[in-house]
Amino acid sequence: MSVELRPLGVNCNIACQYCYQNPQRDAGNLTQSYDLELMKAAVEREGGSFILFGGEPLLLPEQDLEALWAWGLEKYGSNGIQTNGTLINDNHIRMFKQYQVQVGISIDGPSELNDVRWAGSLERTRQQTAQVEAVIERLLKEGIVPSLIVTLHRGNATPDKLPLMHDWFRSLDRAGIQSVRLHILQVDYSQIQNKYALSLIENIQALLSFAELEQELTTLTPDVFRDVENLLLATDNEATCVWRACDPYTTSAVRGVEGKGQRSNCGRTNKDGIDFVKADSAGYERYLALYHTPQEYGGCQGCRFFVMCKGQCPGTAIAGDWRNRTEHCSVWKQLFEYLEQRLLGQGKTPISLDANLHYLEENMLDDWQHGLNPSLNTKLNEMRAIAAQQPPLTCALES
Ligand code: SF4
Ligand code: SF4
Repeated sequence: MSVELRPLGVNCNIACQYCYQNPQRDAGNLTQSYDLELMKAAVEREGGSFILFGGEPLLLPEQDLEALWAWGLEKYGSNGIQTNGTLINDNHIRMFKQYQVQVGISIDGPSELNDVRWAGSLERTRQQTAQVEAVIERLLKEGIVPSLIVTLHRGNATPDKLPLMHDWFRSLDRAGIQSVRLHILQVDYSQIQNKYALSLIENIQALLSFAELEQELTTLTPDVFRDVENLLLATDNEATCVWRACDPYTTSAVRGVEGKGQRSNCGRTNKDGIDFVKADSAGYERYLALYHTPQEYGGCQGCRFFVMCKGQCPGTAIAGDWRNRTEHCSVWKQLFEYLEQRLLGQGKTPISLDANLHYLEENMLDDWQHGLNPSLNTKLNEMRAIAAQQPPLTCALES
């Protein structure tokens, strides 16, 4: 897990209308200044390497970017950045190459499909999107393969827009893009819900359509399908944080360092606009509670996908309350069921259909109670090793 270094906090040149960091902006919680040495010391304390994050990290003056990346390369052997791509210039590209910067770009589609990432006017928005598309092409020509983050919403994933999105994915695949992270829109405000959120059915249709499309792609892998398949097969050591029983007070997958070296959590759990102090040790109360709480009260009781899904990211919990399961529960259930069937068709047995699933559940609950959070893969291997040490049952008549 790398450190998210946020020199300018949530400051951003576009601040998308749906951004999960908007509660912080609305609360006026904006970073005004940073200190390179304090940040470096904090990264070292976290145990680096780091990825530059924002807001928009390319708002940083180029000489400071160069200083951070030169240090990062020397210390950790590589660097990373997550950017909206709108500010990338020739000098940035030079630095990406020189300092081995892995580049992640957030874009929701080509042309009008990216309009939700609004830049003040339609003309400016389209111009900005064209610029980011050109940057992606240029990076590929320069031998830098960016990964993409794509959020699904009414602007790009309603049934009329999906064919265009699929064509875009096919073209990204041909161009050599390897990794796309698909996000369901996280909604923090009712206006955004009304304007941009897909309906339950539309979200399901969109995700399943990408799961179908994935079969014909050669290099590009949307990570959500790989994750869900790996969880179903208990080969989940590399699963992304949303499937790993994240504690909202430590967010172990996200170790944030702010401009003055303060530690911070993943912004997805930050519903009040305030960066609360990061807790020193993780607790898994959310997962114990979800397992035992009936689904009609916001829990996950009785769901056969529980040890795989775990109620998903606490930042997407119903009503912004991490004690609840994700508000996208029905979407994930359908995806689990769809991929469950696909695996069965390949002759593989998902653990969600294993008669011994409850033993795995009991063992995971026991570990969470003791402050441990193993992958399913680790837990199953442990259970198998213990079972192998048990003496074989002997018949009383033999002795
Ligand atoms: S809050 Fe969600 S996105 Fe953030 S680290 Fe936890 S699981 Fe990951
Ligand atoms: S699919 Fe829904 S009920 Fe099942 S574990 Fe996930 S969030 Fe909970």
